[in-house]
Amino acid sequence: MCGIVGYIGGKPAFPILLKGLKRLEYRGYDSAGVALLESTNLEVLKKKGKVSELEKLTETKTYSSTIGIGHTRWATHGEPSDKNAHPHYSSDQKLAIIHNGIIENYGALKTELSEKGYEFRSDTDTEVFITFIEDIKKTLDLTLEDAVRIALTKVVGAYAIVIMSTEEPDKLIAARKGSPMVIGLGKNEYYIASDASPIVEYTNEVIYMEDEQIAIITRNDLTIVDTKDVPQKAEIHKLDLKLESIEKGGYEHFMLKEIFEQPRSIADCMRGRLNATEGLLTLGGIRNYSEALTNAEKIVIVACGTSWHAGLVAEYIFEDLCRIPVEVEYASEFRYRNPVIREGDILIAISQSGETADTLAAIELAKSKGAIIFGVVNTVGSSISRITHEGAYLHAGPEIGVASTKAFTAQLTILAMIALRIASKKGTISESKYRELLVDLENIPAKVETALKSDDKVKEISSLFKDARNFLYLGRGYNFPVALEGALKLKEISYIHAEGYPAAEMKHGPIALIDENMPVVFIATRDSSYDKIVSNIQEVKSRKGKVIAIVTEGDVLIPKMADHTIEVPATHEALMPLVSVIPLQLLSYHIAVMRGANVDQPRNLAKSVTVE
Ligand code: GLU
Repeated sequence: MCGIVGYIGGKPAFPILLKGLKRLEYRGYDSAGVALLESTNLEVLKKKGKVSELEKLTETKTYSSTIGIGHTRWATHGEPSDKNAHPHYSSDQKLAIIHNGIIENYGALKTELSEKGYEFRSDTDTEVFITFIEDIKKTLDLTLEDAVRIALTKVVGAYAIVIMSTEEPDKLIAARKGSPMVIGLGKNEYYIASDASPIVEYTNEVIYMEDEQIAIITRNDLTIVDTKDVPQKAEIHKLDLKLESIEKGGYEHFMLKEIFEQPRSIADCMRGRLNATEGLLTLGGIRNYSEALTNAEKIVIVACGTSWHAGLVAEYIFEDLCRIPVEVEYASEFRYRNPVIREGDILIAISQSGETADTLAAIELAKSKGAIIFGVVNTVGSSISRITHEGAYLHAGPEIGVASTKAFTAQLTILAMIALRIASKKGTISESKYRELLVDLENIPAKVETALKSDDKVKEISSLFKDARNFLYLGRGYNFPVALEGALKLKEISYIHAEGYPAAEMKHGPIALIDENMPVVFIATRDSSYDKIVSNIQEVKSRKGKVIAIVTEGDVLIPKMADHTIEVPATHEALMPLVSVIPLQLLSYHIAVMRGANVDQPRNLAKSVTVE
């Protein structure tokens, strides 16, 4: 949530910051702003709305500053407005700050500072934070970096901050705890950002900041210390990110691009790991603890949102193929409910960004109790990837659309590979079934490609239902989590109320909602619960519901009952979610576009939920 960007070097900072903010806009888009040093003055430009609003504000101006900071906000404290937009500055207007996160004790600090006579211009916790630093600096007569360091030991919460000062015009101070931060290393220049996307076109050498580290950055030097002022070693990483992967590449929206990228992203996820001809499945990232995983008595999966749905599919597959009991937990509930975790228990954490605040906290809790943690993460170098014992990257490439699509299918792919690995080692499936499933998995990209051919049909159906006020999504077995995911996609981007349910549970409540105005999407592919779901379709039709059914190619029965059918290719039922989710992604996309919604930046949402 929220994107921060900073630059110090020899080039004009403003165009770099503006471009960086556009790349980071998927993380938050309530308002945007920059702070520059024009001669010795702090120039703060900020505006409610998208980065384009900030751009309009500044289009006739030029700025010569070669140092600056920028922010695109996802409001937590105070409504989106010009005054609450970042950067915020100190009461003497000498310090400017950008901040991602929440200062939890800002209320007490604000009272304390108000009593000392400070006044505030905004409703944000961030302004309190910079005023607190200003106060410490003045009261204790400290340098900026020492004042920041002391302040950080006294604030509670999460932050990634960058601060600049008119008194030290050749320096940026950056720090993080719980919110991501990357520093790009150029020649006599440094770039700072929430992720590597604003940096990649300038340099491929980066340092991932660790929690409670503070970076003191000048044009030709970077020093990192901890909050006790102890110097820290920083490892330089090479970025493996291609510029085209963070651009739209001719598509109208990132979401559509990412939906259509799935045959490739799933193949990338399996590349070098799966070889069906040889019967080989290699997951280098889970080698050291593979014994513990194979012999697990129980697996706990923690995740949020779409990743939680991937976890639910994994529950079915792990129990079905590996005979290991699985619990799938919302990270936010798990972390606060005193869960029973014993030494050596296995926990799998799933997160696209690798920065999800609740998932991070759940991992820390389980780790403190001695659990072994595996991460299933997309963003290389992210916090979760660094605090887990082992894990597997999705290799799906950056996901920019706020509604997750290709990360979901890559998560399913990884989890299926892990399950197959365990099942084969444990002997809970026969060698021939194992081989068969490897082949099925290898064929998934081609099947997804075929499923994508339903696009025109889905578009046609979308036009019929775009004005619906409610939707019901029903599935059974492996397709139940797909129903949840389909409903979530629709809610997220089209703002239509939608519920996902196990099809049989319909009779215990939701059936009361069904009338001739209720579209009901059935994920009814040919699997072990096919006959049962056919009955559920009949039940809906008897009450005049409008049925849209996702069926297996060649199905002749359901098309006779349903109002609309969309065919997807057949595969093993454990892998069907990878294919059956495709038309649901397209359905939500087209309905949202037809309703005029901003698909890539849906209201109130942001990618990478770095606040709890
Ligand atoms: N808590 C800060 C605010 O509400 C920062 C939010 C963000 O991460 O964008 O302004």
